[in-house]
Amino acid sequence: MCPRGARLLAGTGGLLEPTRLVCHCLLIEGAEGLVLVDTGFGNGDVGSPRQLGRLFSALVRPQLSEGETAHAQILARGFQPADVRHIVTTHLDLDHSGGLPDFPEADVHVLGTELQAARSPSLRDRTRYIAAHWAHGPRWVEHEAGGDEWFGFAGVRILPGSDAEILMIPMPGHTRGHAAVAIRDGDGWLLHCGDAYFSQTEVQTPPSCPPGLQVFETINATDNATRRRNLERLRELAARHGEEVRLLCSHDPGTLGPQKRGYL
Ligand SMILES: [Zn+2]
Repeated sequence: MCPRGARLLAGTGGLLEPTRLVCHCLLIEGAEGLVLVDTGFGNGDVGSPRQLGRLFSALVRPQLSEGETAHAQILARGFQPADVRHIVTTHLDLDHSGGLPDFPEADVHVLGTELQAARSPSLRDRTRYIAAHWAHGPRWVEHEAGGDEWFGFAGVRILPGSDAEILMIPMPGHTRGHAAVAIRDGDGWLLHCGDAYFSQTEVQTPPSCPPGLQVFETINATDNATRRRNLERLRELAARHGEEVRLLCSHDPGTLGPQKRGYL
């Protein structure tokens, strides 16, 4: 996504210069097949960009390309779409759920509150959820908060009884049923924080955030006070357990680079 306003959104560059935001998806290879965390934009969006809405397309300027879809990147790694058995969604905003129709055979894990918000959107949420992204009737697996504690957070294991340690951590604020996803990665954990924050500098101590990004996060939050409280908790987690837990968010392109092993 290439919105204009690099100086305000990224802290450097010209006022009208485009900046670059990515949609981080994680692909986990395990005994249960492939697990995909978030799906970004999908083939349906590439084929029918209009379904994303004029305002979103004009402001956010998604560069829709087939080769960048999770579908294409998974094929390029020698897998089939049907190998993706589970999809875990941080939330169902249009830039995270577009790839759902590309994996119709997967179980789609979501917090119940998010599914409800997406199915019956309030007036102000009507442009953030795109019904075409679930018109194919995904096999939803709804989860509720709690059950498994994770570093002081209430988490829920999405595949209990399996070796894959993957938890959804309810983290509302950006949307009503927004969640972070914790994945055991060797001796440590990877925490995909979705849109709980947009710049990695927000979870550093001391934190900072480009001013335009802060405005963007505030106006896009369903519940901004809750969003800020959860962001504070993530900052504490990063400060206390940064050695064990590696945090990333959806849209900061600097978080996962090509130099990092094994990541898409
Ligand atoms: Zn997003």
